Amino acid sequence: MGISIGVFFFLYGIVLGSFFNVVGLRVPKKESIVSPPSHCTICDRKLGVVDLIPVFSYLFLQGTCRGCGTKISPIYPIMELVTGILFVLSYAMLGFSGELFIAILFMSLLVIITVSDIAYMLIPNKVLLPFAVVLLGLRLFIHLEPWWDSLLGALVGFGVLYLIAVVSKGGMGGGDIKLFFVIGLVLGTTNTLVTLFLAAFIGSIVGIIVLKRTGQGRKTPIPFGPSIAVAAVIAYFWGADFVGWYGNLFY
Ligand SMILES: [Zn+2]
Repeated sequence: MGISIGVFFFLYGIVLGSFFNVVGLRVPKKESIVSPPSHCTICDRKLGVVDLIPVFSYLFLQGTCRGCGTKISPIYPIMELVTGILFVLSYAMLGFSGELFIAILFMSLLVIITVSDIAYMLIPNKVLLPFAVVLLGLRLFIHLEPWWDSLLGALVGFGVLYLIAVVSKGGMGGGDIKLFFVIGLVLGTTNTLVTLFLAAFIGSIVGIIVLKRTGQGRKTPIPFGPSIAVAAVIAYFWGADFVGWYGNLFY
């Protein structure tokens, strides 16, 4: 991997990550993603250039608003950093290839839905649908082997989650079900099942941690989207390794 190209992908990622925060927070509230310009939600102070440099502004301002001193959620710089890392990872794993387009789009989608699911317990259709259409279109040209594995993956992902939703009577959100359709398109059947397996595992750990920290019963709903997103990234890049490793445990 060329270092300079890697740096380029990282910077490109943290800048776009900053935009994904805005999309993830505003689209579910049916707000425009371009106006009003970014502002502090407490004191309404408009953010200047110094406040808008991804990751660095947060560190430089020590996580507070310059206007009112309110603490800014660390979720912003974290998601910017995560996007940068995911973009570099995509380039490192795939190089310049058609699949890199798909990877960048897929990582972008996962970041946006993670932000909105953490903020509102919601994965908006307005985000899912455009990504689903573009990724479906791209998968016609940059396809898996065999080509129909995308379609089967989408049907299996959607179907299994739908079944879980019916059986658990609403334990699974509609957004999660539709998200798994898109995951199936991108990952194909096997890695979609790997995603499901890992997401359940990660989700349980998150559940235990949240339960211990809040001390509340199972009444506090925990968004499942972030666990799905982490699982999907692992399955996308290392799904085959995982299947091999897991298979070796039993044979
Ligand atoms: Zn403020």
